[in-house]
Amino acid sequence: MTTHYGDRPMYIGGEFVPSESGEWMDTVNPATGEVHGRVPAGTAADVDRAVKAAAAAQLEWGARSVWERGALLRKLAERIRNSADRVLELEAADTGNTIASLGNDITLASGYIDFVAGLGIEIKGESVPATAENIHFTMRQPYGVVGRIVPFNHPFCFAGAHLGAPLIAGNTVVLKSPDQSPLSATVMAEICHEVLPPGVVNIVSGEGVVVGDAIVRHPRVPRIGFTGSVPTGMAIQRAAAEVAVKHITLELGGKNPLIAFPDADPATVAAAAVNGMNFSWSGQSCGSTSRLMLHESLYDEVTAMIAAKVGAINLGDPLDPASGMGPVNSAGHYQHVMRLIKSAIDEGARVVNGGAAAAVPGFDGGYWVQPTVFADVTMDMTVAREEVFGPVLAILKWSEPDEALAMANQLELGLTAAIFTRDINVAMDMARKVESGCVWINGTGRHYMGTGFAGWKNSGLGREECLEEVLSYTVSKSVHIIL
Ligand code: NAP
Repeated sequence: MTTHYGDRPMYIGGEFVPSESGEWMDTVNPATGEVHGRVPAGTAADVDRAVKAAAAAQLEWGARSVWERGALLRKLAERIRNSADRVLELEAADTGNTIASLGNDITLASGYIDFVAGLGIEIKGESVPATAENIHFTMRQPYGVVGRIVPFNHPFCFAGAHLGAPLIAGNTVVLKSPDQSPLSATVMAEICHEVLPPGVVNIVSGEGVVVGDAIVRHPRVPRIGFTGSVPTGMAIQRAAAEVAVKHITLELGGKNPLIAFPDADPATVAAAAVNGMNFSWSGQSCGSTSRLMLHESLYDEVTAMIAAKVGAINLGDPLDPASGMGPVNSAGHYQHVMRLIKSAIDEGARVVNGGAAAAVPGFDGGYWVQPTVFADVTMDMTVAREEVFGPVLAILKWSEPDEALAMANQLELGLTAAIFTRDINVAMDMARKVESGCVWINGTGRHYMGTGFAGWKNSGLGREECLEEVLSYTVSKSVHIIL
C-alpha cells in the first residue's frame, strides 16, 4: 500500500511556492513503481527568483558574526537531529534505502552542521611581513550566493550537510533537490524555515538540465558545489565556463578497489567487502568498494564467505526495519544496473550470487535487483571499469602486489581505496601509491569528520567534510596598509 505524500512546494525567499510555470513533476516510490507525491517542475525563472532572494538575504546574513551564524547552525543541526518522525518513513519510501539505515543519514547531516558551526573562527587571514614599514594581511569574505546540486542516493543527508560550510562562511544558498527523490528536501525546507531568516536557504526542485543548469549559468552564482556523476560534473564545468570564471567543487563517482593481501584474515576481508558495498542502500554509494581484489591465496575462501553473507541479505520492503536491502532508486537507474549485470554475464564473469532482477511478493511494479556478486572478473570487462552504483560486487584475482596496484590505478576514477594487510610497510606503500582521494587501511566506508573526503582524477575536485571545505566557500583578499 503506497502512502501518498501530496504536493510539496519549493522554498524560495522564506515562502513555500509552486513553480511560476504551474507545472508539477510526479515522484515515484521505487518499491512499488507507483506515484506517491509531486514537486514543482522548476524553471530558470524560479531559479532567478531564488537567486535574487538569496542575494537579498546575503547582505544581512554575511554581516552577522561567526558566533551568531554558528548559533543558528547549531539550532538547525538540533532540529535535523530530532527530525526522525518527519523524515525516515518518507525518505525510505522515496529512495528505496532501508529505514534501518536512514538514522545514520540524520546523524551525519546534523553532526556535520555542528562541526562546521564551530569552525567559523577559523575563517581567518594571515599577517605577512612583506615590507618592514607597512602592514600586509589577508582576509576572507563570502562569495555571496552559492549553488548546491545534490544526487538521489542520500537526499536528506546531502541537502542538510551541504548547507553547513557555505552558510558558516557567510554565503546564502540555492539548493537543487534530485528529481528522482525530491521529497525529503521539502522537509529540510520546513526545518530551515523554522530556524533561519528568509532567503538564507532556498530549495528549488526540477530537472537537472533545466534547474541545475540555470543555477550553474546564473550570473549571480559565482560558486557551485556539486555532488553527482562524472558526466554531469563535466557538463557543469563546461556550462560554467561558457558564461564566466566560476569556482566549482565536484564530488563525483568511484569504482573503488578493496585490495586484500595474503596475510589478511579471510573472515575480516569478507565482512569488510560486504559492509563496504552498502547493500542497505542497494550499493548506491559513491564510496562502495565495488572492485574486490583478492590475492590468489585468499580468493576461493573469501569468495565462498561472501557468497554466504550476500545470500543471507533479506531483500524486502524498505519501510520494514528487518529488511536488509530495498529496490534501486528509479526505473532509469534499474535499466542502467541491469545493463551492466548483463554485460558482466556476456563478457564471461561467473555469477556467485544474484545476477538478475528480483521478484518481491507484494511489490510487483518496483525496481528490484538481486544482490549480485561476480567472480573471475578481469579489468577488460565493463563491470570492472564502469560505476554500477548498484548492488553489484566484482571480484578480481591477483598474484603480485604490482599487479594489484596497476589494476587499482588503471581507471580514470580515484575516489576511495581499502587495503587489508597486517604488514604496516605494505599498507603504507600501497597507501602512498594508490591514486585515490581517501584510503582506509583495514577498514572501509566510514567518513572521519575533519580529515576530508574527496576524489582524485575524474572522481572530484576540492575536499569536503573538513576546514578546507569551509575555506573554499570564501574569497581571499590581500590588504596593504601604507603607514
Ligand atoms: P547525476 O545524474 O549526476 O545527478 C546529480 C544532480 O545533478 C541531480 O540533482 C541532477 O538533477 C543534477 N543535474 C543533472 N544534469 C545536470 C546539469 N546539466 N546541470 C546541473 N545539474 C544537473 O547523479 P545521480 O545519478 O543523481 O547520483 C549518482 C552519482 O553521484 C554517482 O556517480 C555517485 O558516485 C555520485 N556521488 C558522489 C558522491 C561523492 O561524495 N563523491 C556522493 C554521492 C553520489 P536530476 O536529478 O534532476 O537529474
